[in-house]
Amino acid sequence: MRIDVLGVGFDNLTHQEAVAKAMGFLEGNKACTVVTPNPEIVEICRENPEAMAVINGADMVLADGIGVVKGAAMLKTPLKGRVPGIEFAAGLMSQLAKEGKSLYLLGGKPNVADLAGKKLQETYPELRIAGTADGYFKDNDAVAEAIASSGADVVFVCLGAPKQEFWMAQYGAATGAKLLCGLGGSLDVFAGVVQRAPVFFQKAGLEWFYRLCKEPRRIGRMMKLPLFLVHVQQEKRK
Ligand code: UDP
Repeated sequence: MRIDVLGVGFDNLTHQEAVAKAMGFLEGNKACTVVTPNPEIVEICRENPEAMAVINGADMVLADGIGVVKGAAMLKTPLKGRVPGIEFAAGLMSQLAKEGKSLYLLGGKPNVADLAGKKLQETYPELRIAGTADGYFKDNDAVAEAIASSGADVVFVCLGAPKQEFWMAQYGAATGAKLLCGLGGSLDVFAGVVQRAPVFFQKAGLEWFYRLCKEPRRIGRMMKLPLFLVHVQQEKRK
């Protein structure tokens, strides 16, 4: 049973439960997908029914960001907590390293995935990086084929939302991977190109504010957050 927040169904899982569920997907025989919508993406889904369908069609939908958790609480259907995509990715990589599984990194500007791979290899020496590719390609089939020939078990697809979700739905099976995770700007963080907010901001639920101060050009996108809260209020009154 998923928890509905303005039409997007979220899995009610803790960080550990989400990682365990994702590891379970590796035992199956299809290409499973994980998505991590934040309030901005929920708003995109409200405007774009195709994006809504593809996100709700994922095998696991995680609440990235405090806004979704607040929204669910306001609607009296609370979630256990948020599961930021980047933390989910870190937990998953620890397990992949332990089990000798391999990971392909797709997305970001040229060299970012490569650099992220090198840094991740230092953090998780046992992790097998099957390959990397930047996110500014034209030939989708060629990328899917390259992933397939790398033999990767898991792919981090970091093309921004909802592009990455559409890509996973369309080309996921052709990659031969058992699990594809849509993780937005995570490779920029793993590569050290973008810093996450200090722990104080993360704990206070103000990571979005820190990000806004660092990257003021995000204001247009971030205006979707108050809009999201207004829509949650409207839904609550219904
Ligand atoms: N990106 C990409 N290909 C594209 C468009 C974007 O690889 O065609 C990358 C971009 O370089 C960035 C990520 O996708 O690394 C999106 O980052 P953003 O901060 O928008 O993601 P969020 O985490 O906010 O969804």
